[in-house]
Amino acid sequence: MKLIKKNRLKDFLNTLMNYYDVFAPVLKHKKIRFQKISTPEEVILEYSNTHNKPTELFFPQCEVLFEVDLKENIPEQPPKPDKPVIVFGIRPCDARSLQILDKVFHWDGVDDPYYFARRNNAILIVMGCTEPRSTCFCTSVGSGPMDHNGADLFLTELPEAYAIEPVSEKGKAVFEQVNDLLEDATEGELKSLAELTRRAEQMIDSEVNLNGLSDKLRGMFDHPVWDEFHLSCIGCGTCTYLCPTCHCFDILDEKKGNYVRRIRFWDCCMYPYFTLQSSGHNPRPTQKQRVRQRVMHKFQYFVENFGEIACVGCGRCILNCPVNLDIRSILKRLMEVKG
Ligand code: SF4
Ligand code: SF4
Repeated sequence: MKLIKKNRLKDFLNTLMNYYDVFAPVLKHKKIRFQKISTPEEVILEYSNTHNKPTELFFPQCEVLFEVDLKENIPEQPPKPDKPVIVFGIRPCDARSLQILDKVFHWDGVDDPYYFARRNNAILIVMGCTEPRSTCFCTSVGSGPMDHNGADLFLTELPEAYAIEPVSEKGKAVFEQVNDLLEDATEGELKSLAELTRRAEQMIDSEVNLNGLSDKLRGMFDHPVWDEFHLSCIGCGTCTYLCPTCHCFDILDEKKGNYVRRIRFWDCCMYPYFTLQSSGHNPRPTQKQRVRQRVMHKFQYFVENFGEIACVGCGRCILNCPVNLDIRSILKRLMEVKG
């Protein structure tokens, strides 16, 4: 096992910045979010997780798909990234959410070119969670605070250093680039790594048993239990905008002078206009139906379409819902309902 000493982390990041555009957690508008850094000093490492989802680096809130000059009739594609990207310090749940989005943006065998241009260009340096939040429940959805799935390199914070493990071929290449900065772990440091891993897993105490939930939900579309959750929901959309697995979008064309541009932007199933049809009919006219849709999509429809739950247990929706609607309570209640 190799380590990077904490006092060499700046050198580590500077070395990476020679080869890559490095995105890392920084403080912006009093929130921690991923952003491209220009110096290692910008990086915040005392964080449980970022406020914004890092999936926005790959599927941004708003993006121009192309522009057309109507006079010349020449479509212009937005420029492609020329430098490879490193996302440093992404948490295991968020790395896993990217694996979920990979499936969505590879629908029916066709790659979304915008998403995969960024995704294939990026290397994920995942930072294990040694201090999970009380709202984290990744262990209930098949993951954990030290889950290496989706990582290229995996870092774990020890008292004096970061343990560093290459996971993928891309990660091995980065490992070689920083090799001069690495040291062998001592017996004590290996012990500390094992102890921190064990402790982190124990700290996640909000376990929700989801065994059989997707099958059960299939027969619950019209169940009266859905009357129990939506009354406090104000339909603000925070839960979906912060959720790393949410991926609904809309597309519009905008005309200015001779230019037309096509824009893709996030949409949100918690809004009434999300399903409003041009005829005026809305198949989900009430908040009850919209709350049900959010849960059914993540825990039933997605399982049917892609074979896994579309929730990584990051807890962002729990932490930020202004009316404290807790998805764990909804799931527990659904599990209690007799079939
Ligand atoms: S964050 Fe809470 S109040 Fe806002 S839409 Fe989601 S569940 Fe409803
Ligand atoms: S539903 Fe909530 S806990 Fe699950 S991935 Fe989305 S934001 Fe995280």
